Amino acid sequence: MGERFLINGAGIAGVAMALFLQQNKEVEVCLLEADEQIRTPETGITIAPNGMRILERLGLREQIEAAAKFSRDGLVIADRKGKPLTKFHEAAGDNRIWALPKADLKNIMLGALEPGVLRLGQRGMDLIQSQEGVQLELAEGGYLRGGYLIAADGMRSVIRRQMFEQNRLRYAGGICFRGIIPKQPVHVVPDRFVEYWGRSGRIGIVPLSGQRTYWFAVLRARKNSAILEDYQAADLLAHFMEMPPDVTEVLHLTKNQPILREKLYELETLDTYANGRVALIGDAAHAMTPNTGQGGNQALEDAFVLAQLLHTSQVEKAFEMLSFVRRERVAKVAKLSRFVGRVGQIRNPLLIGLRNSLMRSVPADFQHRKLAEIYELETDRPS
Ligand SMILES: Cc1cc2nc3c(=O)[nH]c(=O)nc-3n(C[C@H](O)[C@H](O)[C@H](O)COP(=O)(O)OP(=O)(O)OC[C@H]3O[C@@H](n4cnc5c(N)ncnc54)[C@H](O)[C@@H]3O)c2cc1C
Repeated sequence: MGERFLINGAGIAGVAMALFLQQNKEVEVCLLEADEQIRTPETGITIAPNGMRILERLGLREQIEAAAKFSRDGLVIADRKGKPLTKFHEAAGDNRIWALPKADLKNIMLGALEPGVLRLGQRGMDLIQSQEGVQLELAEGGYLRGGYLIAADGMRSVIRRQMFEQNRLRYAGGICFRGIIPKQPVHVVPDRFVEYWGRSGRIGIVPLSGQRTYWFAVLRARKNSAILEDYQAADLLAHFMEMPPDVTEVLHLTKNQPILREKLYELETLDTYANGRVALIGDAAHAMTPNTGQGGNQALEDAFVLAQLLHTSQVEKAFEMLSFVRRERVAKVAKLSRFVGRVGQIRNPLLIGLRNSLMRSVPADFQHRKLAEIYELETDRPS
């Protein structure tokens, strides 16, 4: 390749891309991050088997496993009384789902970057591409030149808005609240990631290493609902009073902890992730709802697939093939995530009863096959 690659955005996608590219000593990698320092919100993240396999290829599996915790039961979904709706076999070996504070994941990934690759406080703005290369103007003044630009600047990507069709970010009809409490509540089962689905919404509890506990709650909300946006832990506690004791205990313990709240959006499927010398990866290309915990895992997959393509193809061709290889898979995961969100947010008691009995009657093997489709990488399949 022998080229200079600019990567705009040092989230999971951008850092993973830089880590793969720096393995090629003929390539110069320039990873730009708009923020002056890496700021990762106080929240957890789950790493599914597909994401973990890519982190392994980056040589980071051991460090991640040391910082993370896995669930012995995969992801358990239960009703508001705590009765399981899904039946997973024990999640073992390579099929474990891991969770850790997002800041720990980012720190491990950033720690593997070669010196000089990351440039903090550089916000890419206007991009010009020509036959010779790309020129990215920076908000702080000046510009950077390179052969190619990989935009990993998240769901509101400025590069996508300039260089690609104007696909909409769609409001996904809900708000997600998240937090980490620094202790292990007595009612929380230490080795189980559980999500409860009730009339009032969905709430998940994920034990982390170091006795910490990550929780998230998704409530249905109109786009302009100001009431929910102001919700504090006490409001959530009142909201989820019907739920089992681990939920109420976690929310009670959250009272003095910061809560992160985000309206959920997803990006309409783009026709392509490539435009000449520019490619999109991660949320910039395909922001999806978080209901299957796959956004970050898919960002890792993008970086891995693009790196593989760059080994065998000329750069612009590799960018084009990225869309070809990834769009269908990402659309499938996003669709499943949307579906899980809708089914999990049903409020009508009759429909909830119907949903719950349907879920209980789905054979475990079927559920496993469906999950395997998401968790398996293309490269893992026998050809
Ligand atoms: C509630 C919730 C829960 C989730 N849970 C999970 C989960 O458990 N597992 C999972 O895999 N995924 C999960 N996700 C999704 C996951 O967080 C995202 O898909 C993932 O973080 C996307 O990474 P990214 O690098 O593409 O984008 P981002 O994380 O958005 O990173 C973009 C980076 O680019 C920088 N940037 C932006 N603009 C510019 C610019 N102009 N110039 C330079 N830098 C710029 C930003 O500062 C940022 O650092 C969840 C999402 C939500 C909302």
